[in-house]
Amino acid sequence: MHKYSMQNVNCPHCGHTINITLDASAGSQNFYDDCSICCNPIHLTMEVDELHKTINLFVDADDEQIF
Ligand SMILES: [Zn+2]
Repeated sequence: MHKYSMQNVNCPHCGHTINITLDASAGSQNFYDDCSICCNPIHLTMEVDELHKTINLFVDADDEQIF
């Protein structure tokens, strides 16, 4: 059984909205995806809540450029 979910996230580097596909069947995980606009790596943290059948997605830039 696979549970796929499409999510829109804002790239922390350039601010563009990119579309990523999450595979929730593997449970919570950390992974990186390259922004298709600026090619910088985006650190994504996915938390799967089995109880409520929801996916929480957290996005952050690796280099901590918080203004
Ligand atoms: Zn970007």
